[in-house]
Amino acid sequence: MTTTDLAIPFFPPDLFEGDREVLLRLLRETGTAPGQQFILGEQTALFERELAERLGAADVVACSSGTSALTLALAAMEVGPGDEVVVPAFGCAPLASSVLALGAVPVFADVDPWTMVLDPGEAERRITGRTKALMPAHMFSVMADLPTFAALAGQYGLRLLEDSAVAQGGVLAGRAAGLWGEAGVYSFVQVKTFGMPGEGGAVVTRDAGIGRVVRMLRNHGQDGRTRFRHHRIGWNSRFDELQAAFQRYRLPGLAGRLARRAEIAAYYTERFAPLAGRGIQAPPAAAPERDGRCFYVYTLLAERRDELAGHLAARGVASHAYYPLALPRQPAFAPLARPGDDWPAADRAAEQALSIPVYPHLTDPQVELVADAVCEFATN
Ligand SMILES: *Cc1c(COP(=O)(O)O)cnc(C)c1O
Repeated sequence: MTTTDLAIPFFPPDLFEGDREVLLRLLRETGTAPGQQFILGEQTALFERELAERLGAADVVACSSGTSALTLALAAMEVGPGDEVVVPAFGCAPLASSVLALGAVPVFADVDPWTMVLDPGEAERRITGRTKALMPAHMFSVMADLPTFAALAGQYGLRLLEDSAVAQGGVLAGRAAGLWGEAGVYSFVQVKTFGMPGEGGAVVTRDAGIGRVVRMLRNHGQDGRTRFRHHRIGWNSRFDELQAAFQRYRLPGLAGRLARRAEIAAYYTERFAPLAGRGIQAPPAAAPERDGRCFYVYTLLAERRDELAGHLAARGVASHAYYPLALPRQPAFAPLARPGDDWPAADRAAEQALSIPVYPHLTDPQVELVADAVCEFATN
């Protein structure tokens, strides 16, 4: 039995089922429009403007992926050869590879043992004379402590890039995810909270200057006015018109979908609170008004993680172990690790983190079934 055969899959296979007619109409409209503009046209510009207005950002620049958004934003912050960027030791590969793509070196710092996001004290310990930037990332359901990272960046004169790829719609201390750093990023890949049927991402920023540079960098360093005049060494990281039109159509429903995710997460956290002494730790309960929370996935720390996953599968519930190796333990990045450095919390997260379904169109009985299955495992 594969996970897709389970009664409750980890990611819904019918994510865009209700949008099929609209998507087909937009495909026809885009494909038959007289302008034949398939990338970076009017729909992309409107999509960027609508996101920027909702956020109160100076600029939003749509690009080809969240990974690409990280690279473009780091490049706009002048990160390059010889520079170090402090990144979390637990997380996805782009946290390290985007830095390496620019010839800079990722320096891995440990995460908080409970929330699994970059620990500011651990990040501060890794700052050297070569450190150019800090790059904390929001994770499974808890946003990184950006107020403290902003203070650290100010104190040490560092650039601050917020990997908010999974936190679109999250708010921390009254400020939207993505606007705590000089720049932040979103990812629109299918499984993310504002996912779409394809690849895409965005750089968001409250600094119009960074926005201007990222706009050039995503399109071969051109300024958007004079074609074939290249001011910077750039990339091809452009955005599709069809996807922009589709995302504009889906944008008004985003807040409702995020609220449903938060509702499911709150139910899980309440059900799982008594399991803390029984080898299963739920994320911290959501603060009032969900401050500092985001629910891309919902992740437990389970002492017997693989057994729990097997138990859930036997009850028809798919789960997913994100990042079973800390980044500095990955063959690709291990050579960069400093001798003697260690990341005990990242290693433990890699062994114990297990994510359970939290997507918005889970029904209440499905949510209960998932919670029951977890509780049953912990109390047996
Ligand atoms: C998904 C993700 C990315 C990369 O986004 P893509 O659109 O898949 O390239 C970067 N950082 C984090 C934390 C992510 O979860």
